[in-house]
Amino acid sequence: MDDCLFCRISAGTIPSTMVLETEAVVAFRDIAPEAPTHVLVVPRAHHVDVSAVAAASPTLLAEMIDVAQRVADAECGGQFRLVFNVGEMAGQTIPHAHAHVLGGAPMGRVLP
Ligand code: AMP
Ligand code: ZN
Repeated sequence: MDDCLFCRISAGTIPSTMVLETEAVVAFRDIAPEAPTHVLVVPRAHHVDVSAVAAASPTLLAEMIDVAQRVADAECGGQFRLVFNVGEMAGQTIPHAHAHVLGGAPMGRVLP
């Protein structure tokens, strides 16, 4: 999609700091990092959110998680928090599926 930021980043027409690429998935640094490692894992194909990825291709979702693990293995001892925001109410600002890989510092608990 020509007007989608993450489609354009995954196609290379908007610059990013890539850390890992596969045929179906890219991983690049978040422009406003909230942890020492803050990498976005994004399918090259346009899906609006992670639930749409899961519905369309469980294999692609599994590859996103494998890429997240590989990023964490390289940068933060294999330990990481994986965040998927789904919908504006949950804080999703880019309507192209992406996982936030957060690591490199102790994480507070999200749930009580
Ligand atoms: P979300 O709020 O879950 O939709 O996450 C979108 C993320 O994309 C935010 O953490 C932004 O900082 C990040 N972001 C926005 N524009 C860019 C960009 N051009 N390159 C890298 N990350 C970006
Ligand atoms: Zn897109």
